[in-house]
Amino acid sequence: MDSLEGLRILVVEDNDFQRSVAHQVLQTLGVSDIHQASDGLQALKVLEELGKVDVVICDLDMPGMDGIQFLGELAKSSLAGAVIVASAMEESLIRTVEDLVHEHGLTLLGTLSKPLARKKLQALLSQYSSEESSEALATSSEKPKDTWSVKELEEALVKKQFILYHQPKVSIATGKLEATEALCRWLHPEQGLIMPDCFIPLMESNGLIEVLTEQVISMALADLGDFQANGQKTKVGINLSASTLNDTSMPDRLFEQLSTHHLSPELLMLEITESSLIDQPAKSLETLARLKMKGFMLSIDDFGTGYSSMKQLNRIPFSELKIDRSFVDGASEDRTRRAIIDANIGLAHTLGMKVVAEGVEQVADWNILEELGCDIVQGYFVAKPMPLSELSDWQREWQHKFSQLDDSQQSVGQ
Ligand code: C2E
Ligand code: CA
Ligand code: CA
Repeated sequence: MDSLEGLRILVVEDNDFQRSVAHQVLQTLGVSDIHQASDGLQALKVLEELGKVDVVICDLDMPGMDGIQFLGELAKSSLAGAVIVASAMEESLIRTVEDLVHEHGLTLLGTLSKPLARKKLQALLSQYSSEESSEALATSSEKPKDTWSVKELEEALVKKQFILYHQPKVSIATGKLEATEALCRWLHPEQGLIMPDCFIPLMESNGLIEVLTEQVISMALADLGDFQANGQKTKVGINLSASTLNDTSMPDRLFEQLSTHHLSPELLMLEITESSLIDQPAKSLETLARLKMKGFMLSIDDFGTGYSSMKQLNRIPFSELKIDRSFVDGASEDRTRRAIIDANIGLAHTLGMKVVAEGVEQVADWNILEELGCDIVQGYFVAKPMPLSELSDWQREWQHKFSQLDDSQQSVGQ
């Protein structure tokens, strides 16, 4: 569906003038199925009568039920395909509402200032149309499976169908490849490559994760061996689940494994999410302390999304802090995100940790991170996760991209 003609749209706006502007603009875009409401309650009534609409264009500040309350109700009703927030509010409040809309599980097409500009509205609505049609296509062909039985997972473990992709972590100052993060994938014989979010949580709740972790460790050590054999000092990071930290004898076993591969423990970075430190704190602390004692590197992952206190950070000897993607992505356009990154970098450096920014996708965010003194970057801007065999080709391309980055910055500075 290329044109917007078939869309059914509800405009929720208390101001008569703004509402009629919205109506007119929509008409000029070819939309004819337009409905209106002047506050949240009325909008819910309209929806009750109409049934599902494609897009709700919603003001925030309204008398009666305001836009924020309304969006909560709207999410419960499942009567909107997507939402556009139209508001004259300041940037930070709009960001909060954006997060809220995502939390509610609604699809947000975007935010617009008022009065509605025709071009921008058109762009957001066409995004909805094209998503709709691609969804329709996807459902018409065979859908990839996203839930698995314990038996299927066990079988996959026995058949060793899990493989590692590596995502580069590079120095922001020199561009040098410092480390990779090894990310697990399931190479399914019929379904192809399956992402970890589809099987890790299942394995964690069914007691299979330890077997997977063992396999991941052996693969990571083999890959580390490859780096060493090529004379590269690249470290490798692996992800540990919370339950792995309950096993206080794990550090000894891991150390043994490295010794048999003639690898030094500081080459292995163990990434632990902030939230996994919450349950079983005493046991995890013991395991972490023993890992550190044996010489492994510890990295605190997804930092900022959990609840670790300064005290915990101080107690556990982490070498690296990874700022979560949700703060990094779009930092160049958002003062609040920048302030959070700035504070975390200060904290980490004071405690002697290196800072990794995850999820860097744009050059603008790279530049901000460099300015704020971040040490290492990982994200699609540098590279997506890839099989080990593709790493040397990537390195060549990256060297070129990085040198151009440097040149363009020098010319800005001149
Ligand atoms: P994580 O540890 O936070 O890993 C980073 C995730 O962010 C990866 O997703 C990576 O592909 C993705 N990513 C990196 N840069 C960007 C970017 O610029 N933009 C975007 N949009 N995404 C980016 P992936 O590979 O799907 O892994 C998801 C999660 O699965 C990981 O999150 C980790 O928690 C878990 N996981 C992966 N492998 C293992 C494993 O072997 N063991 C355990 N316990 N968990 C694993
Ligand atoms: Ca990680
Ligand atoms: Ca992470």
